[in-house]
Amino acid sequence: MQPTALAREAPPPVIISGDGVTIRDAQGREFIDCQGGLWCVNAGHNRTEIKDAIVAQLNRLQYYTNFPGSVNEPSLELSRKLIEITQPEGMRKVMYGSGGSDANESAFKIARQYWKLVGKPGKIKFISLKNGYHGLHFGTMSACGANAWKASYEPMVPGFFQVESPHVYRNPFTEDPEALSALCATLLERELEYQTPDTIAAVIAEPIQGAGGVIVPPASYWPRLREICDRHDVLLIADEVITGLGRSGSLFGVRGWAVKPDIMCLAKGLTSGYIPLSATLMNDRIASAFDSMSPHSVFMHGYTYSGHPVACAAGLASIDLVLKEKLSENSADVGEYFLSRLKSLQTRHRAIGDVRGKGLMIAIELVKNRETKEPFTPFDAYPGQISEGCVASGVMIRTIVNKLIISPPLTFTRDHVDQVVNVLDQVFSAHPF
Ligand SMILES: *Cc1c(COP(=O)(O)O)cnc(C)c1O
Repeated sequence: MQPTALAREAPPPVIISGDGVTIRDAQGREFIDCQGGLWCVNAGHNRTEIKDAIVAQLNRLQYYTNFPGSVNEPSLELSRKLIEITQPEGMRKVMYGSGGSDANESAFKIARQYWKLVGKPGKIKFISLKNGYHGLHFGTMSACGANAWKASYEPMVPGFFQVESPHVYRNPFTEDPEALSALCATLLERELEYQTPDTIAAVIAEPIQGAGGVIVPPASYWPRLREICDRHDVLLIADEVITGLGRSGSLFGVRGWAVKPDIMCLAKGLTSGYIPLSATLMNDRIASAFDSMSPHSVFMHGYTYSGHPVACAAGLASIDLVLKEKLSENSADVGEYFLSRLKSLQTRHRAIGDVRGKGLMIAIELVKNRETKEPFTPFDAYPGQISEGCVASGVMIRTIVNKLIISPPLTFTRDHVDQVVNVLDQVFSAHPF
């Protein structure tokens, strides 16, 4: 929580209901949900199809374990569905959890065990990117690329290292995206070589960095990541917790970059937030290693609620909506329109330093000075005044320090965009900087 948040006079709205892209609070005020909850309400609020699937599953079976000895039906069905829709990426097996941190933690354990299965037990380290966010369990927190998420909880797990991410708006190297992409790829490769590849299990990254401030890499960056991982025999883990299931304008973030990772982690959009659920998908290379007979082939991992049947039923219904209503395509189309409207807003308001995004994950970065790009800090009231102004005008929007984060339900229309941009225009005009 930001220090300024504590000083706010108005208590936060108590949200009591939602429908489509709209939410309501206890005082009866209505808001356009520009956050999608927390990047996760992909199919929208109050969808009959998802609620019915949940109730139908509850009426059959509320819970049964997937630990050895039994398996529940919705988890089997969802696994089939996930393998089917990730065919272009070549995924073959699924491990479930209850959130993004679980999904990435599982990915790390799978990666380490994979290398033991194939006779390279020394490959244990992980490389991730600065500004990357991978969750808050000890392993996933250790992979995070910002001190703010770790400082109070040291020491971190050993074996995690971070390298520069290609952040076009803020980097000390170059303004040319292609040059930056090549440079950051080289820095990553140098780190692999410095650590020595025979100690590295995997590289993990988000196809588009979310909590770090919606940092969209140049298009050549992910293909370069894949190439470097292949050259040095290192696994590539795509943290698709936000980008998965349509948010970035393609069904998966890596599909937008035409890259096949070895492991894909899904969570936020997986059930549109109706029930907590995450999935860690692995490709054939990894799955077949686990199929082999070895003292290491037991995957000694799983949670009580791995593959929870009600959550899996919600996941199946949500995925059906995303596919049937072509929400990835809508995200691409409406996201592009949103970006262009925000860019024209930028010409009128000096505090808007940068507007960036892909699909319906967008950030507006606020600065004190456009030339120097001096950012507002957690101690500046201005960004909070903007988001509170939006909330007062019926638009629920979240700030991360100096960034306004936009990630509405993927059912958003151009008309919703116009309403939000008009509110932003009025709020920025009322708060000149
Ligand atoms: C939110 C998030 C996580 C963590 O997910 P939780 O469900 O909060 O544990 C991991 N990775 C990314 C990219 C995320 O956005």
